[in-house]
Amino acid sequence: MSDLNEQWLDLRSDTVTRPSAAMRAAMHAADVGDDVYGDDPTVNRLQDYAADLFGHEAALFAPSGTQSNLLALLAHCGRGDEYLVGQEAHTYRYEGGGAAVLGSIQPQPIVNQPDGGIALADIDAQIKPDDFHFARTRLLALENTIGGRVLGADYLKQATDLAHARGLATHLDGARICNAAVQQGVSLRAAVAGFDSVSVCLSKGLGAPVGSILCGSKLLIAEAKRWRKMLGGGMRQAGVIAAAGLYALEHNVARLAEDHANAAYFAGELAKVKGITVSTPQTNIFYVDIPADACKGLGDVFALTRIRVSMAPHLRIVTHMDASRADIDRAINVFGDFFG
Ligand SMILES: *Cc1c(COP(=O)(O)O)cnc(C)c1O
Repeated sequence: MSDLNEQWLDLRSDTVTRPSAAMRAAMHAADVGDDVYGDDPTVNRLQDYAADLFGHEAALFAPSGTQSNLLALLAHCGRGDEYLVGQEAHTYRYEGGGAAVLGSIQPQPIVNQPDGGIALADIDAQIKPDDFHFARTRLLALENTIGGRVLGADYLKQATDLAHARGLATHLDGARICNAAVQQGVSLRAAVAGFDSVSVCLSKGLGAPVGSILCGSKLLIAEAKRWRKMLGGGMRQAGVIAAAGLYALEHNVARLAEDHANAAYFAGELAKVKGITVSTPQTNIFYVDIPADACKGLGDVFALTRIRVSMAPHLRIVTHMDASRADIDRAINVFGDFFG
């Protein structure tokens, strides 16, 4: 491929990955039908494959992670219900307030601990009693990975057990759950254990151009499917994009370890550069703290050297399959030269 993007290194997100030649071939070869009629064999294969992979009864293909999360919230909660969610969570902070706007669902945001989790005592304290002064607390929503951090298996078990014991359902925003599973060396089923539903992005580190998958019980997925149609997410010959998602789940999960190794190498080299502070990556995301007065100059050098970053004093760096070790060395040199 000879497009101009090819010459740029993009460290803003793993959403920037473009479909590989093999993935495009799978898309090209996909059998298709009208998925609103349930006729698309490739969408059906993807949904069956994902349901099995994540250990749920059923799955639903959605055009985005935002919609997939919203479908779950709408399926779990009704008007006047409440969901418990981290203050930093994507479903609370970065999805346009969709649960409140479109679902009349009240979020109860709770502070995230430094490790990304929500303290069990905080979850417990925020579950409202059965009293008409309060919204009905229906759901606990967690996110893994969150800001690149992996929530531990023990914590996840305790949090989901607590929620279930108090009559709540549980949803996992698992946009990057495959990164978490690979980092922990556990199966995808084990990584989502304890959750009644899970949303997984195919379009991030897994490298598909578009799409997310929502997994849950047959009943929950049937409800989510109604909402998907209402939201305009009923797609027709969606097999062409589902084929990319299927390819991503079949071929691109284990290789996330490379992205994690590249992030560890990248952060390790940056830690040697004076004048900046670097977080220790657990997966493919880490942060570099840069003096505010250096941001403009550094941003200019990045642009000149064809490296895309979301320049900020607390700079997020994301590694992915379209950022090779050689690319990363190039970025390390920019930091080294600028602060050297
Ligand atoms: C990207 C992301 C989403 C939303 O996915 P889109 O496909 O961009 O709508 C949801 N949750 C988390 C944690 C994400 O990183």
